Amino acid sequence: MSLNTKRRKLCLRCQACCKLIYIPTSRPNRENLKFYTARGIRFINNNGVFCAAVPSVCPQLTPQGCKMGDNRPEDCKAYDGRKDPLLKSVCLWDTKNQGVLKRGTPRVKGGLR
Ligand code: SF4
Ligand code: SF4
Repeated sequence: MSLNTKRRKLCLRCQACCKLIYIPTSRPNRENLKFYTARGIRFINNNGVFCAAVPSVCPQLTPQGCKMGDNRPEDCKAYDGRKDPLLKSVCLWDTKNQGVLKRGTPRVKGGLR
């Protein structure tokens, strides 16, 4: 089985990165944080660039995977959950680049994006 096929199968089980959208934002203050976190929105600080991580299920997502298949956006094709500060702990791709399932259940499966 090719690496791409293995990864596709793992993504089908996970789907976490298709249920979250990142919006660049300014640094949130304490009150902003309280307001947004009460709504399930988290913030990440990626080397000084702040992003709001908003739960949002992509309309292209189906239980069988992405409806767009190979026509999905380049950002989706290039995305690597292992490098995402918010999702690296749930991404099922392994850290040795072999596409082997890590132990454990994704904590945000079905809950975030
Ligand atoms: S977080 Fe990783 S395993 Fe999960 S859908 Fe995204 S790329 Fe696939
Ligand atoms: S277009 Fe497809 S791969 Fe991209 S976020 Fe939506 S469902 Fe996921």
